[in-house]
Amino acid sequence: EGVGRTENPWEVDRGCLQEEVGEALGEGQFGKVYKAYWNTSILVAVKAMKHDCMKRTEFLREGETMRRLRHPRLVKLYGVVSKPESEPLLLLTELLPGGSLLHHLQALNNKGTPHSHGVLARMGAQVASGMAYLESEKVIHRDLAARNILVADNLSVKIADFGLARFIKDDFYLRRSNIKFPVKWTSPESLVHNIYTSKSDVWSFGILMYELFTHGGSPYSGLSNKEARLSIQDGELNRCPPDCPPNLYSMMLDCWRANPTDRPSFSIILPAITSIADSFITQ
Ligand code: ADP
Repeated sequence: EGVGRTENPWEVDRGCLQEEVGEALGEGQFGKVYKAYWNTSILVAVKAMKHDCMKRTEFLREGETMRRLRHPRLVKLYGVVSKPESEPLLLLTELLPGGSLLHHLQALNNKGTPHSHGVLARMGAQVASGMAYLESEKVIHRDLAARNILVADNLSVKIADFGLARFIKDDFYLRRSNIKFPVKWTSPESLVHNIYTSKSDVWSFGILMYELFTHGGSPYSGLSNKEARLSIQDGELNRCPPDCPPNLYSMMLDCWRANPTDRPSFSIILPAITSIADSFITQ
């Protein structure tokens, strides 16, 4: 107690969590996600990180900055359970019943009821709003993609897993030859020089827009990661998705400028995409 105490202020007691049996929300590449009650009252999403994939000490030391980030377009991180050390690290986050945006887009499209361009642009604007906040806080997401956006309800989305990528062990994820590495979302300077900035997040945002306007389609469709890497390094870009409005494709192309400094920042993208989204609503 007191002097010299190094307890994390965001540590949650394992005993305060009651797993909702049979309520798995999903299985990600780093572990499984399930529903639980926290202190018998608050329903939360619990992400159990696979035992050996986290840089645990670094995460516990620096990860608290992630908890301080608060914005309506970011999935809230409530706390962690890191004890005992022999057990998987648990991340407690806000629960979003709609699951991942990627799955949501594909499911609606398969039902023959895809979102209108107006709704898709609105979702893009919401993501841009959360990213503009992260940019202003000098936080780089590093893994922005539709699979890491969660759906609150049909018309509202939030960004998950911001900043988490840098705490994943290299051999799990960041090693650029790894099959799990998100090549198709990664900017050329990140692929070639391992340089990550808010402008490399902007590149990924362009790919996310492509996922939106293809209703959950795959970027560089038909290419393996190895082939996609070569295409990206050669400056080949995704073509305009069928029926995608030209002003939105032109925004994607701005995000995919080879030179990061030529790409717009999120503070520029946000008002631009918001006004495009508004133009659909008033049409
Ligand atoms: P990973 O990053 O390890 O690949 P994810 O965080 O993407 O794992 O989680 C896997 C799946 O679990 C997601 O696709 C989503 O369907 C579900 N999920 C994750 N977090 C939440 C949450 N906060 N609320 C609801 N569902 C979630």
